[in-house]
Amino acid sequence: MAKIAVLERKCTGCGQCRAACPFGAIDMVRGRPEMNAACRVCGLCVKACPQQAIVKLETRSAEVDKSQWKDILVFAEVSGGRLHPVCLELAGKARELAAPLGFKVRAVLVGCNVGRYAEELRHYGVDEIAVYDDPALAYFRADAFAACVEDYIRQVKPSVVLVGATSLGRSLAPRLSTRFRTGLTADCTRLELRENTDLVQIRPAFGGNIMAQIVTANTRPQFATVRYKVMDSPVRREEASGVILPRKLPKAVGESKARCVSVTPVPPKKSISDAEILVVGGRGLRKEGDLDMIRELASLLGGDWAVSRPLVEKGWATNERQIGLSGRTVRPKLIITCGVSGAIQFASCMKDSERIVAINSDRAAPIFDVAHVAIVDDLYQVVPELIEKLKEAQA
Ligand SMILES: Cc1cc2nc3c(=O)[nH]c(=O)nc-3n(C[C@H](O)[C@H](O)[C@H](O)COP(=O)(O)OP(=O)(O)OC[C@H]3O[C@@H](n4cnc5c(N)ncnc54)[C@H](O)[C@@H]3O)c2cc1C
Repeated sequence: MAKIAVLERKCTGCGQCRAACPFGAIDMVRGRPEMNAACRVCGLCVKACPQQAIVKLETRSAEVDKSQWKDILVFAEVSGGRLHPVCLELAGKARELAAPLGFKVRAVLVGCNVGRYAEELRHYGVDEIAVYDDPALAYFRADAFAACVEDYIRQVKPSVVLVGATSLGRSLAPRLSTRFRTGLTADCTRLELRENTDLVQIRPAFGGNIMAQIVTANTRPQFATVRYKVMDSPVRREEASGVILPRKLPKAVGESKARCVSVTPVPPKKSISDAEILVVGGRGLRKEGDLDMIRELASLLGGDWAVSRPLVEKGWATNERQIGLSGRTVRPKLIITCGVSGAIQFASCMKDSERIVAINSDRAAPIFDVAHVAIVDDLYQVVPELIEKLKEAQA
């Protein structure tokens, strides 16, 4: 980090620095320059000052002793009465990353009556499962949950902490990373661990046009969130391994100011991320009513339907049905896209599907780069024919 400082004893208040600043970042206060929030630390004012009264200070952040931070910790989220599948995906990824460095995989469970989930985690190659189980943790309160996870992190000093990019995880992870004054990379799509224990956190940036590689080089732990269905789901092992470690409730939980006044259960909704078969409508559809044939095809195949973003923007579907960077990531067994061009923001979130069938009248459409079966034709021809054929077969 660098900053600009003014040496008051040398400054004459001539204002040449202010005139030289291209960002309007210098205010003259009581005859002396003061940097405001627009300062880019470009150093032009340093050069402009005839009295050498302005200096650029470089502060070096102290390097952490990385050898003191070992292992990978996965936050095991329990929501809707189940262990969220994203944490199993993360446990599998953690196992893969940990092996070359000889790290352990740890998990932390927070909630009330969560013992059975700890047992379940033992089938996924987790070495140690810390459990904070208390009626005070029956409902998610970000500060109370953060206090528990912080307590365990301080105890075991993990090098990496992986959290699912769920609503709960997105609330928890930033609180934790600020408590440790360390980095957090949201919505990673790939993770790699270097020999020096730096986690390479790869995620789309600039509207999905580049894949950024982000490293938290000087602090530990390294926090990353990952969306559901981005990592492979691990196979449940028959034999259980790993130890369950009940933990004492940290004092800070009792000091939480948040109180649960009432709870209104939301009926469980089907998510397109869980569908095994998906039929997707894109901007190739001419009017809202044409989504009916997408729904019909999906239903005949025993699957669900989804859309690309333009259809959400037109108000034809809700965001919950949108595939893509600003929607959901999906990995069904079969996906049929109808009139979708395959822009990177869409394709990056469905390209790992087992079978991709793309219907598009433009043979140069990028969707064909990720498709296993390419149908270069008018969707208004193909989709009704498919529906007809399926009806015949069912009859
Ligand atoms: C930051 C950011 C985030 C974004 N997030 C998302 C996201 O989450 N999800 C998303 O989908 N997009 C997202 N986008 C938008 C994305 O860039 C594309 O604009 C969008 O995916 C295009 O949707 P589409 O393929 O349905 O439409 P288009 O790109 O317009 O493609 C329509 C396709 O239909 C074909 N077609 C037309 N008529 C027919 C026909 N009769 N038969 C067969 N084919 C036909 C055309 O050849 C064309 O290829 C994002 C963009 C940005 C900048």
